[in-house]
Amino acid sequence: MEQKSRAMVLKNFNSPLELQEFPLVPPAPGEILVSIESSGICGSDLYMWKGRDPRTPLPIILGHEGVGRIESLDHGRKDVLGRPLHAGDRVIWDRGVPCLKCYYCQIKKQPSLCTARKIYGINLSSAETPHLRGGYADLIYLFPETKLIKLNDGLPPEIFSAAACSGATAAHTIELAHVRPGDTVVVLGAGSLGLFAIRMALDRGAAQVVAVDIGKSLHKLEMAGQFGAGHTLIYDETSLEERTAFVRNITGGRGADLVIEASGAAKSVEEGVHYLSRGGKLLLPGAAVPVGEVKFPIYESVVSKNVTIQGVWVSDTSHLYQAVAHVEKHADLYRKMVTAVFPLEKANEAFQFLLNEKAIKVVLKPE
Ligand SMILES: [Zn+2]
Ligand SMILES: [Zn+2]
Repeated sequence: MEQKSRAMVLKNFNSPLELQEFPLVPPAPGEILVSIESSGICGSDLYMWKGRDPRTPLPIILGHEGVGRIESLDHGRKDVLGRPLHAGDRVIWDRGVPCLKCYYCQIKKQPSLCTARKIYGINLSSAETPHLRGGYADLIYLFPETKLIKLNDGLPPEIFSAAACSGATAAHTIELAHVRPGDTVVVLGAGSLGLFAIRMALDRGAAQVVAVDIGKSLHKLEMAGQFGAGHTLIYDETSLEERTAFVRNITGGRGADLVIEASGAAKSVEEGVHYLSRGGKLLLPGAAVPVGEVKFPIYESVVSKNVTIQGVWVSDTSHLYQAVAHVEKHADLYRKMVTAVFPLEKANEAFQFLLNEKAIKVVLKPE
């Protein structure tokens, strides 16, 4: 094994990531050293790069969508299904490591709400030993408490990267949505989170899905069609009245049972309430950083329709497990979702590629 690891480090917001080498230190007892095979670039990485995520310390190695092979681990270690883990196994891991001691971990039993949750590539600085706590690197050290899932070796590692974040968050969303057979679901934003939500809603029995995105993201809407969305609407080529009329027309005048806001734009949250039927539910997994305020008539849009507005904050290990199982089942679809692969040291070019809206899921691969 090499005695050093390269990593792309964010030292200053809005500045290019810098290639840096870190010396390897022996893993602490119980820690697992993993050689990264594929690291997804999440939309929230771009927000962190711009300094818009209040959780981001500097310097930091970004990347919370890692898949890799175990380099070293303590004897007897198992994955979440009780399968023994060995050096060389391909694994994915829960990006969040909850404390298991706080009120939310112990009493509410919602580890995704843990107030002391450590998150690889999001709130762990590379200034602290062993430095390598993010996915944009050759290697990563995982805390002993990290939950791992052994992956199917026969599938390419990059198709699992998005399961670590957008897939798991979509699984959390679908769980909170209580999708019922026959439901009509509107998904706003057809990036990786939206695509996962579309396919998972249909797998749960949704009768029809309408995907909405901007004209610049036509490739995402085309992908939404491949994921099973029977209807697609171009946001900037239609009016709100036309879009809501379309949804009412295909639902016998009622509106959508569920709306999933997966773009993160405040105006899209606002738009979401307009699609809802009486008793409908608006789910908000998209706005993962501060995006400002929204305005809608509370009586007309929410109270008098018995509508639910549900925030969706990140995910836990059960959601990661669901996302991995889902990707394995639909491997051919998720292969298509990975639209570009960049070498690790080209992370800045990969960011620009994503910012130009040319891609859906972009992954970095150390070589
Ligand atoms: Zn906790
Ligand atoms: Zn993410």
